[in-house]
Order: sequence, then structure tokens, then C-alpha cells
Amino acid sequence: MQHKLYYQDPYITEFTASLIGQGIDDNGRPYVILNQTAFYPTGGGQPYDTGELNGTAVIDVEEVGGQIRHILEHPLEHTQTVSGRINWKRRLDHMQQHTGQHILSASFEQLFCAATVGFHMGSEIVTIDLAISDLSWDLAGQAEELANRIVFENRIITPRFVESEELKELPLRKAPTVTENIRIVTIEGFDHNPCGGTHPARTGDVGPIKVLGWEKNKGNIRVEFVCGARTLQVLDKKQRILRDATRLLISSETELAANIERVLAERKNLEKQLGEANDKLLAYEADACIAAAVALGGAAWIQRIYSNRPLPELQKLAKMIADKEASAVVLLFSTGNRTQVVAARGTEVVLSAGDWIKEIMPFIGGKGGGSAAIAQGGAVTEIPAEEIVQYALDKLKAKLAT
Ligand SMILES: [Zn+2]
Repeated sequence: MQHKLYYQDPYITEFTASLIGQGIDDNGRPYVILNQTAFYPTGGGQPYDTGELNGTAVIDVEEVGGQIRHILEHPLEHTQTVSGRINWKRRLDHMQQHTGQHILSASFEQLFCAATVGFHMGSEIVTIDLAISDLSWDLAGQAEELANRIVFENRIITPRFVESEELKELPLRKAPTVTENIRIVTIEGFDHNPCGGTHPARTGDVGPIKVLGWEKNKGNIRVEFVCGARTLQVLDKKQRILRDATRLLISSETELAANIERVLAERKNLEKQLGEANDKLLAYEADACIAAAVALGGAAWIQRIYSNRPLPELQKLAKMIADKEASAVVLLFSTGNRTQVVAARGTEVVLSAGDWIKEIMPFIGGKGGGSAAIAQGGAVTEIPAEEIVQYALDKLKAKLAT
């Protein structure tokens, strides 16, 4: 039986131990087993510790068949005594996130009867799944406030193994997942919870707890939060973003939202003005097209080829021409990666633009359609627009002749 120093005192960072076993795991990684260890193995939602044994990096720690395996970067030199040192920054972070979760979960439960049914400690944020269907910033704020009050009151945290008789008397927040060696973590006057992780001696070591947001997840609410040093990292990151945003908008932090609203409203207004100006330009362009129309039978033949012009603009121009000139037959192209064609006709012309487009499209391997007044089609094609125009014109002449 190995002595778990992390249970005896979670603040132990350095220790010496005797080697009692070693081997190679299923992934081909060398490992050692010690008579005692401060290295916490992955379990109960808390990740493993890293660190070193006799200067060799410990890259993973697992409990397999009741034995704690220290998985090493390289095998240890032949030795009986080992000195170990854990990465305290990583361990403290795990203790802060993990214990912060106890406190925040208990706060949600005590205030709103919202039980925690899931927990995940990520490398940046921590989440709990609450068995509730909705959450508001007001309620989340109340839970956060209670949790931080428990932190700042610096209450004593006592983990201990209890017998099943005593277990029945304790008001546990959730049932233990194991049936023997049940370890209960008590936060003085606040919470009792079964847990096999490592915890600081007092709640003050958890540091500030901050709820960042939440989302709906499989009928529950998944709350994202951070604790301790991570809270400062998040604050720093948000501060940088805020600093950039206030600099770009030449705004104070408090007026930032109002200034963003103002800029968005200005943009909307400018887009409207730009749209109106574009329509005026299109009207001039339509007039110029009509003035340069070529007589074709009794109709006014108007044909233009543009490069990379948006289809909605071609349609608008074609419609304007047809609305202004009752005898117009219009065929507009946009060339580029894709060839777009718009056909339209004035009210005096006996022609279905839709039928005409349907006759043109097979020539370029494309599809199209529309009404009798205006239609469009397109394809990715190597055929030059001038050839398509000639083809379309032949079809048009045949149609107008009938
Ligand atoms: Zn715990």
C-alpha cells in the first residue's frame, strides 16, 4: 500500500521515497511505483500532477489496480531512493478550480436547488452542468456572490475518510460514487461532499470565483467559470480587449456600448444613403443604355458585357431599362469566375425573357429562368460572352420573327 502524501498534506511539494516497482505501460512509457508519493493521479475530475523524480520529468500519473504509476519521460537510472518534486503552480491551479467548483455548486444548490450533474476542468475554463432549464445573470450573480463570500470568510476545509454509519448522518450534496474508503470534504458550516481530490486547507486559497457565462446543454445549463489565478488571467485578457475597443472607438469603458450602438446606427444610415446614390447612378446608366440602343425589327436592342458585376445590380439595371423603354430588349452579362446573364424586355415587346434564357442556357451548360418580363441564368464557362451574345441574338431574331 502506497502512502498518499497528497491526502496527508496537499501542500507537500517535495518528498523522498523508496522505489518499490517499475515497468513499461501499455503505451510503451516507462513508469515507477514508490512507497509514498505527493503526485496526484488523474481521478474525480482532477487532472494528474506533473513534476520530476530524480530530475526526470513525470509526464503522467495514473492509478492502475490500486497502484500509482509515475509515468516518466525516460527510465530512471538504477536507484532505490527517489526525490520527487511536483509542479506546484499546476497543482495549486487544480486545487483552486476543483475546490471552487465545490463552493459554486453548493451555492447554486443552496440558493436555487440547482443540483450539479456534471463537471469538467478544462485547461482554460471549468464547467458545471446544473439540472435546471434556464439561468439569468441575476441568479448567476447571486450564486457567485455567495461563493465568493465563502471564499473571503476563509473557512476551514476538512477532508476525511468516514465510516458508513457516520455517512448516514451527514447532509451530503451528492451520493458517493464509491462504496469503501469514502472521503468526505467538509467546508466549515457550508457543504459536505464526497470527493477524492486535493483541496486547500482554507477557502481563502481558492481565490476569487467568476462566472463567465452559460449555455443550454442536453436539457441542463452548462455554467462556465474560473477560480483563483485563472480569474486574474481572464481579467487581464478581457482588459486588453476592452483597451483595444475603447482606443478604436475613442470611448470610455462605460460609454463603450452606447458608442458601438451609435457607430452601428451610422453605418446603417450610410448604407441606406449609398443604396439611394447607387440607384441614381443606375438610372443614369439605364438612360445611357437606352440612348445607345440599336433598332432590331420594331424593338430597341440593348446589350452590355461587364466584368464581375453582382447579379442583383445587373437585374436592377435590366429592370430599370425595361421600365423606362417599352420597346427595349435587354441582355446584360457579367463575366468572371462565373458568367451571369440577365434578359429583360419592355411592355410593348412580345417575348418571354424566361423562355429566351432557357434557350440560351444549354449553349453554356448552365441553368436559368424567370418571368416573361425578366429572367436570369448563369454557368462557369470558357465560352466568350461575345459568342453567347451571337447565339442569343440568333434565338431572339427567330422568336421576334414568329
Ligand atoms: Zn473535491
